[in-house]
Order: sequence, then C-alpha cells, then structure tokens
Amino acid sequence: MAKLKKQDIKVYKALQGELKRQQEGMELIASENYVSPAVLEALGSVFTNKYSEGLPGKRYYGGQKYTDVVESLAIERAKKLFGAEHANVQPLSGAPANMIAYSAVLSPGDTVLGMDLSHGGHLTHGHPVTLSAKIYRFVRYKTDASGLIDYDELEKMAISEKPKLMLAGFSAYTRQIDYKKFTDIAQKVGAITMFDIAHIAGLIAGKAIPNPVPYFDIVTTTTHKTLRGPRGGMIMCKEKYAQAIDKAVFPGFQGGPHMNNIAALAVALGEALKPAYKTYAKQIIKNAKVLEQELKKYGFKLMFGGTDNHMILADVFSSKGATGKETEKVLDEIGITINKNMIPDDPRKPMDPSGVRIGVPAITTRGMKEKEVRLIAGWINKAIENRENKKFLGELKKEVIKLCKKFPLPK
Ligand SMILES: *Cc1c(COP(=O)(O)O)cnc(C)c1O
Repeated sequence: MAKLKKQDIKVYKALQGELKRQQEGMELIASENYVSPAVLEALGSVFTNKYSEGLPGKRYYGGQKYTDVVESLAIERAKKLFGAEHANVQPLSGAPANMIAYSAVLSPGDTVLGMDLSHGGHLTHGHPVTLSAKIYRFVRYKTDASGLIDYDELEKMAISEKPKLMLAGFSAYTRQIDYKKFTDIAQKVGAITMFDIAHIAGLIAGKAIPNPVPYFDIVTTTTHKTLRGPRGGMIMCKEKYAQAIDKAVFPGFQGGPHMNNIAALAVALGEALKPAYKTYAKQIIKNAKVLEQELKKYGFKLMFGGTDNHMILADVFSSKGATGKETEKVLDEIGITINKNMIPDDPRKPMDPSGVRIGVPAITTRGMKEKEVRLIAGWINKAIENRENKKFLGELKKEVIKLCKKFPLPK
C-alpha cells in the first residue's frame, strides 16, 4: 500500500481504519465474509483495465487472450462445483442477476410467485419499491406456523395465479427448502423455476446442504456471501435457457464485464473445489446449530423453529424486550455487528423491527468453532440484558476484541 499512502493519504487512512475495524470486530452479518489474499490480489489486478464485451472466443474488442482464460476458468469451475449445465459469470451483483434472469424469460406484466419479504424473501423478489415489481406482477407466498414453506398454500396459489415463473430463495429464512416439492408444483402449472441461492451458495458448493441446481431451470446467486468470493453475481441454468440468459446479460442489461471480479471469482471457485472448503461449509452448519441452541437456552424466540443453514432470525422484541434497532445498537457497542430484521408479518416498522438476523459465515472463516460460538451467544445475551449499563458493555467489548485478535483475518 506504499503507493496509495504516498499519493492519497485520505483514502489510505480510511482503508487502514476499515482493516482495523474488520480485524477487531465480530462480524455476524449473515451476508458477509472475508475473501482470501489470493482473491484480493486478483481483484486488485490489471484486469480492471480491460473491456471485454461478449463471451470467451466471441468478443467485440481485441486483446482478449487472457480475459478469455480467466472467464473460461470461472465458467468451468462454476459448472463443475454446482453441476450446472450452463453458467454466466458476468452479472455485476445479486440484484442485477435477478433482474437479468427475469428479463430473460418474462414479458412485462407476467406473474411471478416469490417469497414474501417479511418471511425471509429478498427485496428483488418483488417488493413494491423495486423496478422489477413495476414491470412484472409479483404474488408472494409465506411460511406456515411450523416455519416451513406452506406448500399446500403454495400449490393453491400456483393453480389460481398461473405464474410464468416460480421463485425460491431468501435472505432471512433459515430452513431447508424441499426442492422436489417446489419444482413438482411448478411443473403442475407449467411455470419456469428459479432459485436465488445468494445466501446459501457456499453451503451448497461445500456440500453441507443439498444442491438445488439439478432441480431448477435457473439459479442466480451472489458470489460474496457464504461462497466467499469477490462481490459479484452469477447465473446458472439448463442448456435450454443458456442463450436467453447470455443475451439478457449482454447486450440486454449490462455493458462490459468487470474482468478483475471475474478473475477473482475464478480464484474463489478454485478454492471452493478444494477439500478444505467442505470443512468450512460443514463448520458453518455446526456453528449455526450451536448458536441456535445457546440462544434458545437464553430464552430467545427463534423464528421458523431454528436453523438448517448459516443464520438465525430471532424475535428479540417479544422474547427480550429490546427492539431490533436497540439490539443492533447495543451489540455494536460491544463490537458485534448484526442487522435488525423484520420477522414474519412483523407488526413493527422496517427501520425498527422486532427481529435481528445473526449469521456465522464470517467468524467461521476466521476459524471460530463451537466453543467460541458459545462465548459469543453468552455475550449477546448479557449485552441485551444489561443494555443500560455502559461500564459493563465497555468490559464486554474488551473481551470481544481479545477473541477477535486470536482469530485473524485470512492470511
Ligand atoms: C444479497 C441478496 C441479493 C442481492 O445481492 P447484491 O449483490 O446485494 O445485489 C439478491 N438475492 C438474495 C436472496 C440476496 O440474499
């Protein structure tokens, strides 16, 4: 960083501050992670200088000898890792990947059946504030009292609404989806199936949960959450949709791909193909299970009955008397970062909801295991229960920093 320090001290200082924040903070935001130094090197490389519209072997500009190498590697590795028939690695992030996938198979006004936002779905799955909701007609399904998707209700909705596309996927839902049940319903009504695996891609790649890719027509994902790659998006699909997806990415929606991201993605997917990655993915599940058990023990009300993946959603308002916003703030004071989150049919407002979402991918990457998760769960509970006691919170923060220093970022 010597050149940056000399040339632009303001940016350099902010970067150093962020590094220290990441080193000393306990990152429990379910969508965050730490990439490897090799991924960072590829990301900060000269590939950022290159325009490469088109696909490997079929570009609109010259000079593609090496961009073709990295993009082909990323595609081949993605296909191998997920057992996909086709992969496009150019989407700039998860939200554009979804927009692109919709545009590839839908016409304006078409109906999409997607998961309700407060039941764990994502904004891009048809929330009224999004562009996609202005173009397509979204109808949203929910979970039942047991915390599973209400498949009977889903089938009834599918029959009455006749969706062109049935969308699975979530950002704050914690249970395993029955891929077969879901796609069987879609088949009954002739709907195309899509699964947005943004949150769980790393768990699938590491074989810690079943792979939905063989079941669904189209699978979109981010590359920077559990998957542990650079920020970006990816679309996998059946051969039947390959051409429509590729065209929808470019020229349909995007311009030149960010080749430095794609190079870094190739590196990250290479890491995911190694045996150590399976250990990481399995440890995520173990850590989340311990978090679930410990928080239940402390009296937290967990939504959907617990977790089958990397995160939990807790109703802190009804079980601990603190709102989601208050919980986020008090944990911030002790160096633990989480996010406030709506619970299903939350009576409170999005900016101060009843719940919080807590995820373990980032601390698992740092090497923390069951023992550390037990400590962290205890601190979370104590911090909330003693939220007025500044001195107590100050002491807890020291313990959090001490533990973080024992588990450095990937080197
Ligand atoms: C995070 C997420 C996205 C959006 O990804 P961005 O990279 O932030 O655009 C889309 N879908 C789901 C399910 C997500 O969790």
